[in-house]
Amino acid sequence: MTASRRAIRGEIVSFLDDPRRSSTALRHIPDGIVLVENGRIVAVEPANLLPALDCPVADHRGCLVMPGFIDAHLHFPQIDIVAAPGEDLLGWLDRYTFPAEAAFSDPAIANRAASFFLDELLRNGVTCGAVYGSVHAHSIDALFEAAEMRGMCLVAGKVLMDRMCPPELCDGPDSGVQACRTLIRRWHGKGRLRYAVTPRFALSSTPGQLARAGRLLDEFPGLLMQTHISESRREVASVRALFPAARDYLDVYDQAGLLREGAVLGHGIWLTERELARLAEAGGAIAFCPGSNAFLGSGSFSCASAHASGVLVGLASDVGAGPSVCPLDSMREAYFTARRLGERFSAFDAFYLATLGSARALRLGGSVGTLDAGMDADIVVLDPAATPLMARRQTVAKDFEERLFALMMLGDDRSVAEVYVRGVPRQQVLSGRTVN
Ligand SMILES: [Zn+2]
Repeated sequence: MTASRRAIRGEIVSFLDDPRRSSTALRHIPDGIVLVENGRIVAVEPANLLPALDCPVADHRGCLVMPGFIDAHLHFPQIDIVAAPGEDLLGWLDRYTFPAEAAFSDPAIANRAASFFLDELLRNGVTCGAVYGSVHAHSIDALFEAAEMRGMCLVAGKVLMDRMCPPELCDGPDSGVQACRTLIRRWHGKGRLRYAVTPRFALSSTPGQLARAGRLLDEFPGLLMQTHISESRREVASVRALFPAARDYLDVYDQAGLLREGAVLGHGIWLTERELARLAEAGGAIAFCPGSNAFLGSGSFSCASAHASGVLVGLASDVGAGPSVCPLDSMREAYFTARRLGERFSAFDAFYLATLGSARALRLGGSVGTLDAGMDADIVVLDPAATPLMARRQTVAKDFEERLFALMMLGDDRSVAEVYVRGVPRQQVLSGRTVN
């Protein structure tokens, strides 16, 4: 059988490491080719170094060819309440989130939302994400089926909740964890799909459910764990009152056996130095959700503090509390956050976080997040001159970093010129053709 080959040509931009830690992290090839065979990258080279190609060449010269974006934290049942106004975290959950998630008791609604949600991610250049379902197991069946049809790499889990939520969204004493077990056996490690044990947060799970979730992580190797932590000050105070024996918020998850490599904690705005140090030691990661943090008025996450403590950080939209699926919007909000805190935050930092940073946070850095031989060919093509203003701005930029910065500040979904999932262009992915 002849191998399926495709070449993608353009200005290659990819990070091989964290630019804050390595001065050689950036790979930038002004006119380069990514050579793809059977969904995998086999070479990334300057165009003039490759011999005459015997395969189709997608010519994206004038655009940036980058690893597909990876969203480290978002909620697919909340796609329909994105941009719902005017509450803090706990009020927002009651008024908007729980009713939206209750609607998912109807599998047909969950199925339709799953397809729309993934198509919207792809339209915005997001080829991978760590996704919260609703409390209903069938929400994850719907999402993973839709991801499998599109050939996407996806991390997801059903939300675990057994208190402080409407009765129709409440897991029974052991039924939630048992439903996870069934989903894990069905989906975890199937193709590009990974299961994440997903207690919503400390307030909505009893200590018993958190402990059972921790034991589940021991039962199946390679699982991820995702939850929220220290998003708002009111929430932190409530956790302190509810778990008097824990030394701090992180310790609640630590005591339950949830804190380990592959743990991805959303927000982390109010974590103490001790918590950051412990999180780094355990190999956990923070999903930085700047759009959502600003939207709900939760606070400003310090990337510099997380970096200093050695914690892995990925970038996330936290849709629906985050108002945009587009990672360029999240990058821009991350920059504004850093400015408020007086911290440095470059375009390189932003694009790293949205690609390899998130991949590492989700323990997927060996297969996605960078353009290199052996990696899966998940690719986004960005047009830095998608609007008249952007085009004008690009022509006066002094160097590549300034061009990238202008793209981050002015870009949006109009900048996404093409997306490839394992080398397959988006329109073919949407029509169900997942093998190139
Ligand atoms: Zn969230």
